[in-house]
Amino acid sequence: MTFYETLTAAINDFIKYGFDSPDRLEYWSKKLRNTLVNSLIDENSLKNAVEKALNTAYHRLVTKGKLVNKYVDRFTIDRLKPKMQEELQRRIMVSARLIELNRNETVNTVLKRFSGWASSIPEGGSKAVDKLEEKKAIRKSIVKIPYEQRRVIIDQTHKLIANINDIVAIDKGAIAAEWNSHWRESGYDYREDHKERSDKIYLVRGSWAVDKGYVKPADGYTDEITSPGEEVYCRCFYRYIYTLQKLPEEMLTTKGKTAIQSGKTQ
Ligand SMILES: [Zn+2]
Repeated sequence: MTFYETLTAAINDFIKYGFDSPDRLEYWSKKLRNTLVNSLIDENSLKNAVEKALNTAYHRLVTKGKLVNKYVDRFTIDRLKPKMQEELQRRIMVSARLIELNRNETVNTVLKRFSGWASSIPEGGSKAVDKLEEKKAIRKSIVKIPYEQRRVIIDQTHKLIANINDIVAIDKGAIAAEWNSHWRESGYDYREDHKERSDKIYLVRGSWAVDKGYVKPADGYTDEITSPGEEVYCRCFYRYIYTLQKLPEEMLTTKGKTAIQSGKTQ
């Protein structure tokens, strides 16, 4: 029997007999757990898929040199490789654990909903829920899966990319970062506070520009807020700023403005 067939049979059984003994609930819960576990994407193939996706992203960024740009040379990337490799391994580990947790949580949530519903049916069954439509609704509310397992892959890949970019930017002396959110994208379930951060520029604490007193915060520092991608399913990203000229005027001190004018910006 598939999970859905088992669930239908379990609902029918409770409608007919009601919650007349804990044994009845236990019997069905066990059956449901087994069929549900079997119906979920195989844990190992999911772990392999996430590992592959993370390795591909890493390869594209680091090995193939997509990170190299005007501010970042090949030499820097090579020097930072151990740190980035460490981040890759950390993501692989976290993903595997998340997949396992989500899986357990999915099963537990479904079973909790089922026993919540089943134990509410009085002994002797219920005539009130004998209609097909209502049965369907019960079934639907029970199986609503809390986590889409495949989203772990997308989420963790994004986090890897964000963190690798971060490692490079800080190493290269980024002085600020502009927050970018996908909130304009239709269908993207954005966070309200991330939408508000969009296009705002946050200073990097401890950068040379801060040390020299060239800059002042307008919206605060990067270490005062969560990082892009830090929260679950967040796809926001930073665009890093390396030079004083790229900062809006209100973020420059008088000293900073003078430095730009005299060309002494490093
Ligand atoms: Zn976000």
